[in-house]
Amino acid sequence: MSHIKPPKYVRQVLVTLQGRGFPAYLVGGCVRDMLLGVRPQDWDVCTGALPEQLLEIFPGSRPTGLQHGTVTVMMDSHSVEVTTFRTEGSYTDHRHPDMVQFVGDLTADLSRRDFTMNAIAISADGLIADPFGGAEDIRRQVIRCVGDPEKRFEEDALRMFRALRFSARLGFTIDLFTMEGIRAKASLAAFLAAERVRDELEKLLLTRSPETVFSLVWLGLLTRYLSPGLPDPALLQKLDKLPRKAQVRWAGLCHVLGAAGCIPSAEGFLTALRLDHSTVRMASDTAGILAAPPPDSDLERKRLLKRYGVDTLRCALACRDAFTGARESRELRRILKSGECFSLRHLAVSGDDLLALGLRGRAVGEMLDFLLEYVMEFPDNNRRELLLSLAAGTEE
Ligand code: ATP
Ligand code: MG
Repeated sequence: MSHIKPPKYVRQVLVTLQGRGFPAYLVGGCVRDMLLGVRPQDWDVCTGALPEQLLEIFPGSRPTGLQHGTVTVMMDSHSVEVTTFRTEGSYTDHRHPDMVQFVGDLTADLSRRDFTMNAIAISADGLIADPFGGAEDIRRQVIRCVGDPEKRFEEDALRMFRALRFSARLGFTIDLFTMEGIRAKASLAAFLAAERVRDELEKLLLTRSPETVFSLVWLGLLTRYLSPGLPDPALLQKLDKLPRKAQVRWAGLCHVLGAAGCIPSAEGFLTALRLDHSTVRMASDTAGILAAPPPDSDLERKRLLKRYGVDTLRCALACRDAFTGARESRELRRILKSGECFSLRHLAVSGDDLLALGLRGRAVGEMLDFLLEYVMEFPDNNRRELLLSLAAGTEE
């Protein structure tokens, strides 16, 4: 067993439930991570207690997903998700169980889970319940469906994305039958809500193997969002060189898909996937910057900073560096460190100063623009008196 132990507040939840006569176990991702020797991000508990009983046993707990039997329990100012053992009914739409049934049985609960490695439970005293051989699969580094893969993907097509995402994150291989199941059922991915696909794809992009996107495209899991064609695997590989930030990775992905003709525009692709406005904007501005020749002077870099802002230019240059081996980010860091002015916020005079000089209406904006362009070219001249005299036309 691993050296990783659940924290005291988690053990307290398990012990409290057991003290009340209810079976209680750690389950899912946290058990998998413990067996892998990785510190879990969050701790999930499953129990025979019903949601109403959980609310009564743990004062201050909140029903966070009552239809799924999930209650968020507060313990020593930490929150723990506690879910009643359940099974799921049939899935007529390939993504939502038609009904959820609470059952008193741990094995039934484990059997509804996606992969054997995610279907292991551990009690407070370290007893392991592993009816599907998950620990052995973790040891062999294999991702395998609980039960018949085709059926499980028919129930919820998102599991196909999850299989690939876990394989990218953990470096595990996907079991042969599970992989065949994905091949057979890939077309069901078209039924999934775009938000669920987006969240999975984003998690995948943030793993150390974002090139796994190639498999998603190859297998047809993204057909609803892409034109026919395959992205260049060598370019996809380079996504890993980008900072581990979602917006930057989306922008990078759009560049690779755009280069292969799989998407007409970053905007169309990301909007269809329901990305937020700021991510869509950053990716489409990045596409614009990458389509133009690289800036070859500080003045040009500052003009780009003025037009697109720091975050977007940083993203675009990180993409160019990752894909072409350029060293533009370094140049950008140098400019930012120098404190040289590229925005009205840092200009030594403001609109109010110009109003005080007697300028009015559009002339104010035009003069500010002129002065900004001037100090971008001559950074040492971002001085108030000098700029005021320039604006007043009194400079000799
Ligand atoms: P992560 O570290 O990414 O959170 P996780 O395994 O904890 O990984 P969650 O999405 O948090 O993943 O889900 C918690 C558990 O719920 C999983 O370990 C699995 O047992 C079960 N689960 C989640 N999604 C599904 C699904 N679509 N089908 C079946 N079981 C699922
Ligand atoms: Mg989790």
